[in-house]
Formats: sequence, structure tokens, C-alpha cells
Amino acid sequence: MDKFDVDLFVIGAGSGGVRAARIAAGYGAKVKIAEEYRVGGTCVIRGCVPKKLFVYAARFAHEFEDAAGFGWSVEGARFDWPTLIANKDKEIARLEGAYKANLDRAGVEIVPQRAVIEEPHVVRLADGTRVSAGKILVATGGHPNLGLDIPGRELGITSNEVFHLERQPGHIVIQGAGYIALEFASLFAGLGSKVTVVHRGDKLLRGFDEEIRQRIAGEMAQHGVAFEFGMSIDSIHAEGGAKRVRLNDGRDLMADEVMLAIGRTPNTVGLGLDTVGVHLTENGAITTDNTGRTNIPSIYAVGDVTDRVNLTPVAIREGHAFADTVFGGSPWTVNYDVIPTAVFTEPEIGTVGYTEEQARAQGRRLDIYKTDFRPLKATLSGSTSRTFMKLIVDHAGDKVIGMHLIGEGSGEMVQMAAIAMNMGATKADFDRTMALHPSSAEELVTLR
Ligand code: FAD
Ligand code: NDP
Repeated sequence: MDKFDVDLFVIGAGSGGVRAARIAAGYGAKVKIAEEYRVGGTCVIRGCVPKKLFVYAARFAHEFEDAAGFGWSVEGARFDWPTLIANKDKEIARLEGAYKANLDRAGVEIVPQRAVIEEPHVVRLADGTRVSAGKILVATGGHPNLGLDIPGRELGITSNEVFHLERQPGHIVIQGAGYIALEFASLFAGLGSKVTVVHRGDKLLRGFDEEIRQRIAGEMAQHGVAFEFGMSIDSIHAEGGAKRVRLNDGRDLMADEVMLAIGRTPNTVGLGLDTVGVHLTENGAITTDNTGRTNIPSIYAVGDVTDRVNLTPVAIREGHAFADTVFGGSPWTVNYDVIPTAVFTEPEIGTVGYTEEQARAQGRRLDIYKTDFRPLKATLSGSTSRTFMKLIVDHAGDKVIGMHLIGEGSGEMVQMAAIAMNMGATKADFDRTMALHPSSAEELVTLR
């Protein structure tokens, strides 16, 4: 008789959990995965995927504007929010089905309910069932922060609700200046909403290269986003069908929606982690070693619940490494050195490797290469948007250790450059590479 009901019990069917469950099952492990909401997790259901679909929708507006200079007339173009929502919902349902089918095919049993940890080898389901497991993987992700308990906070929405608004807001006030705030600011502006970003600081995107931070607000403003820097929201009051947003300097903004995009917190509360003594950080994230193992040998954690690098490809890698290591007999650890990322603002930001500030703090001598140009397309479209590119090179070995871009296609460029950087490419390697003309990317191999 088996010692446990299953070899692996995964809590949370998001990016990290699904990958870990499928790979472990592929090695012959008996696996169950619990999901309290929808299979696919944040990225598929209410994150990356629906967000990018909205970004595509918004970008047509800029294409229509640019088209006139090339001889097109696109009068009468109109945007219909309910059509976008309905088509997006259909696609997300299709993806959820595909995720479930893949788990089924791999032999993983999906348990559609909340699960919590009761003992180091026991999970308790919402219906009271207890399941014993050789290993438990916590992959419960995170949830949006709501900030201070200001009057009317409940009138605000987060990224969880924004994908289901019945009506497109005429004016949306967005609090925060991270990925989510800025992506939604850009996309709502593209779709024709009035957008005001309220940020407590004076610069956007903490942690990004300073020059990107200095430039992006101006670029976004050109695309219709208004900024209130050094401001917070004191209260929100319902007034007719609208919301009166009181800023801390006493001014009021009238808006249709107020979106709070002020960071996320790992889903660890009420999970039973304290009962079994799993160590958490001050922010409530699970602490693990580089194989995902917590201080309790049978309990592992991957993805946003560990609050390391909160990106889908990272959660997937961590889930895969866990399954290969624990069930596949081929241990490996995730390399966090070269992680490309994009902020899908208008214009887009792409970044990989060290910022100039991080590299300098390590005491390295650096060679910095930059360019700032008007892309060819803008010559006829009349757009005043500029493209900015910055390469950070470690002088000692000539290695490219950072790349920071603003402009069309930045995310796509950075993904490819990350391959070269992973292989240890030097500036000389970039220079030796033939340019592809005419493109924006060619600037990266002709920087002097
Ligand atoms: P999740 O995908 O969050 O999955 C956790 C799952 O666990 C959820 O389905 C949850 O319902 C379930 N769960 C929680 N507790 C329990 C429980 N007790 N029992 C059962 N089930 C439970 N990343 C990118 O790389 N690119 C992007 O463009 C991008 N865009 C984003 C846009 C938005 C609006 C948001 C919010 C995030 C975005 N992210 C993006 C981040 C990305 O979504 C996360 O990094 C990723 O989903 C983390 O995966 P995960 O497996 O750790 O957790
Ligand atoms: P971020 O951590 O990126 O940004 C949080 C923002 O909220 C910051 O501007 C911060 O300001 C501000 N803030 C924090 N607390 C408060 C407060 N109490 N009052 C007012 N402002 C506050 O979080 P997001 O929610 O934007 O996104 C969460 C994570 O999800 C991202 O970090 C990223 O890992 C992932 N993500 C990735 C995407 C992608 O890959 N394209 C897209 C969306 C999300 P300050 O700068 O002053 O600290």
C-alpha cells in the first residue's frame, strides 16, 4: 500500500503550479492540483493574456492616427468595449479549457476547490476532505494590494475587476506607477478614455534604469496620459453615477472608475503555513532555497508566492526546475541573471540585465552606449514619439550586461538580445553582427 494518497499535491493552478504538476506527472508521479478560482491562474485569466489583448485593441488607435500620413483615411473608426470584452472572455475560456485538457492528458487530477495545509504531509480541501502527499507544492500566487483604508476605498477597482467592467470608463483615475498602473493607463488612453495617473512619488517605474524612468512619463503624456505626481488619494465618494476622488492637496477629480494598482501581496494568509511552521518573509512571502524547498522538507513553493521575480516565465521555470529536481532525478536551479521583461505601455519599454545604477553599485567600470532617434515610420506619420536605446557594457570584459529600450517593438528586441546576453555576448559581438536595414533593432549593432 502507498504511504501517501498522492506523490505531489499542488496548491494553485497558475503558471508555476500547472507546469510543475504536468512535468512531475510525466515522471510517473501521482499528482493532484487544487484551484479555487479558474485553471490558468493570474496570467491567463486576469493578467498577462487579457491585458495584452487589451493592449492590441488600444494600439489600433495609434495606427489609425499614423495612417493619414501614409495616405489612408480611416474616418468613422469606432471602438466598442462590449465586443472587446466578449471576445476576450471567449478566448480566455478557450485557454482555460486547453490548460485543463493538458492537465488531464498528463494524468493530473484537478481539484476545483480551495486547499490549505494541515500537516507537513496533509492538505485539507474546502469540502473537508484530507489528502496526504509525499510533497506539497505551494503555487498560490498573489493578490492586488488595496493600500490604506481610506473612505470609499471599496469604490475602487483593481486589476481583478478591470477585465469585467460593463462600460468603458470615460475618465479613469489610476493610482500607482508600476507595471500594472502604466500598462492600463496607456491602454485606456489608446481606447479613448481620459486617464489620470496619481503617483505618490515623482518618477515612474521604480527599479528601472533612471533614463527610462526620466523619459517614459513624457512619452506617455504625448499619448494622452495625465500625471499627478507627489499625490495620494484621500477619499473616494460616489456622486451620481460617478466618483469624486479627493487628492491630498484638497483638489477633486471626477472619474467613472478609480483603479488601485499599488503592488501585490503573496497569497499565504489562511493557508496553514503557520500551523506547520513554514518560514515567511516580512511581506508574507514564502522563503525557499534555490530548489524551491521551504524549511519544512516536504513543502516547496514557486512563483509569485515567493515574491522573487513576479513574472510568468519565472514561475514556469521555477515549477519546471522543482519537478525535474524532485521527481525527475535531474536537479537544476533557475538562473535569475538575465531576465527580459517588457512594460506594454505606449510606447513600449523593454529591459534586460542590469540598470546603470545597479551595475555602478557593484563597482564596475562601465561603457555606456545610447541613441535617441525618430523612427522612420514617424517621418510620414508625423508622430513626435522617439525611440531610446541604451547598452550597458562591463569595461573589463566588454560584456553587454544591460539593455534598456523605449519604442515600438522593444519587448520583441529585448527577448532576442537576451539570448546573446545569456551566451555572454560582448559589445564587439554586437558590432560584428550585420545590421538588418531598415529597422530600429539595427541601431543596437551600430552603437558607437
Ligand atoms: P498565479 O498565476 O497567480 O496562480 C496562483 C493560483 O492559485 C490562482 O489561480 C489562485 O486562484 C490559486 N489559489 C490561491 N490560493 C489557493 C488555495 N488556497 N487553494 C487553491 N487555489 C488557490 N507577467 C508577465 O510575465 N508578463 C505580463 O505581461 C504580465 N502581466 C500581468 C498583468 C497583470 C494585470 C497581473 C496582475 C500580473 C501580470 N503578470 C505578468 C504577472 C504574472 O501574472 C504572475 O507572475 C504569474 O501569474 C505568477 O504565477 P504563479 O503560478 O506564481 O501564480
Ligand atoms: P509594482 O510593484 O510594479 O508597482 C507598485 C506601484 O504602486 C509603485 O509605483 C509604488 O510606488 C506604488 N505604491 C505601492 N504602495 C503604495 C501605496 N501604499 N500608496 C500609493 N502607491 C503605492 O506593482 P504592480 O501592481 O504594478 O504589479 C505587480 C507585479 O506584477 C509587477 O511588479 C510585475 O512583477 C508583475 N507584472 C508584470 C507585467 C509585465 O511583465 N508586463 C505586467 C503587470 C504586472 P513607489 O514607486 O513609490 O514604490
